[in-house]
Amino acid sequence: MPTGVLVIAEQRQGRIHSLSLEAVAAAQHLAESLGLECSAALLGEPTSELAAYRLTNVYTIDHPLLRTYTADAYVLALQQLIEKIAPSYVVFPHTYQVRDYAAALATRFHQVLIPDVIAIHAGPVFVRQLMQGKLSGDYRHSGSGPCFVSIQAGSFRASDLIPGQALIAAFTPALSPSQIRTIPGAPFRESARTLDLASAPILVSVGRGIREQANLPLVQALADALGAELAASRPICDAGWLPMERQVGSSGQTVSPRLYLAVGISGAIQHLVGMKASKTVIAINKDPDAPIFELADYGVAADLFEIVPALTQAILAAKGEAAGG
Ligand code: FAD
Repeated sequence: MPTGVLVIAEQRQGRIHSLSLEAVAAAQHLAESLGLECSAALLGEPTSELAAYRLTNVYTIDHPLLRTYTADAYVLALQQLIEKIAPSYVVFPHTYQVRDYAAALATRFHQVLIPDVIAIHAGPVFVRQLMQGKLSGDYRHSGSGPCFVSIQAGSFRASDLIPGQALIAAFTPALSPSQIRTIPGAPFRESARTLDLASAPILVSVGRGIREQANLPLVQALADALGAELAASRPICDAGWLPMERQVGSSGQTVSPRLYLAVGISGAIQHLVGMKASKTVIAINKDPDAPIFELADYGVAADLFEIVPALTQAILAAKGEAAGG
């Protein structure tokens, strides 16, 4: 017998994390479609920010051992709350922290986690991407016990949150220091960004199709011709070919330029969430089945090493700047 939906929200210094608001929107949508109640849980420093949404309860789970994240403390605290309120569905934002502990929590209930969900259809059917976005998988929960799902960034909108009023209910778990097996280090801090890709009206973004760093001047020339900033997918920045601040995607910058030209980028969901709000998307990719073409307004299924220099020349010619033209 379904009882309700519980969404687990994360906070940073008392502010609800943006991915958590998207997860709350997903949980509200799931609860509405099933005619269930929806509540939220928040670990660590209590905040009333979620009280302004349509939620039955906001459980603030506080304990000195929760003020700093550890997987052991989070699993134990959430296990106690879930045992108490027995939700049918437990929804998480798909953050690094959730990846660290949510599967262990699900295992406590003899369940698996359905991670990285990008859509929820009637049923409920949870949709995940497979094979770098080339396939979608539909997942249903069966059996008894709560169903644990995490929501991929950008799959639901915080702007779709249903406003309302929630009761704040304090929940104090029983935790002892002997149950915590790890000593957390200082949280990772991102270095200050000097480049704001989000304000660039045109972006030329390069992916692994460029093959090697020595080929980057090809796309830089195209960016220069268009008066664009150069951006990149994650493997390019991971390899150190371009600085991290040029990375677009779920672990990089979120951009919405007038024009996004994706060169040799497959269109993995983690990349798409960072650029799908672009006004016009042009993709150049030699694989006609690349997922980027599903989002692109214009697609060129061809070898970038032929197209990019020709395009650069054509743009320069149109501007009257082509070599000899
Ligand atoms: P690939 O997927 O290897 O695609 C290369 C593409 O180039 C292919 O489609 C191929 O057909 C095409 N190609 C090859 N040769 C040519 C040619 N000669 N001409 C034209 N096309 C060619 N990724 C991000 O981008 N941003 C993120 O913020 C991000 N965060 C992540 C966070 C997590 C937790 C995880 C797990 C992954 C993340 N990723 C992110 C990685 C993401 O899943 C993909 O692996 C990545 O986006 C793929 O980059 P790509 O498209 O450049 O490379």
